[in-house]
Amino acid sequence: MKGVVFNILEDMVTEKGGLQMWQKVLDKAGVDGGYTAVSTYSDDEMFSIVGAVVEELGIPAEEVIGAFGVYMFGQLASRYPVFTDSASDLFTFLESIDSVIHLEVKKLMTETNLPSISCTREGEKLLVMNYRSPRKLCILAEGLIYGAAEHYGYGIKIDHPVCMHKGADHCDLQVSLIDE
Ligand code: ZN
Repeated sequence: MKGVVFNILEDMVTEKGGLQMWQKVLDKAGVDGGYTAVSTYSDDEMFSIVGAVVEELGIPAEEVIGAFGVYMFGQLASRYPVFTDSASDLFTFLESIDSVIHLEVKKLMTETNLPSISCTREGEKLLVMNYRSPRKLCILAEGLIYGAAEHYGYGIKIDHPVCMHKGADHCDLQVSLIDE
């Protein structure tokens, strides 16, 4: 996983509990920190840190990962505006992730372990995203989608009836627009 993801997690934890909390998290995870945006670090290292954040904050892992997804989207959108500038609304953006975004991310980060996502529109207010990833980070994907909805100014809910964590070979993320 790219260092930029670690940098964004550091920002989130630091905003919440200051540098002391980040240091505590690193100690608990048994890692040194000091991540460089474009370098690659092991997924296990990220999971250790997330585990330490979960312990430190005393909230469930799913909540931490979901909140991280929302936060990460905002950070990525401001660091790399090219990703969001190319789409004018939420569904168009989500549909562009697999082709445009991942291509750009690959150029930028030489990332090779990205999930594959395909989208189907089921009407004006429902988009079904088929998510496959060896990392099974569908909760992070949900957080990112919520972050994207915030960015584009939509209220959404996500149903997740099919999930790799329940033995399926993919996840279905049903993104519905809701009136606010
Ligand atoms: Zn899932």
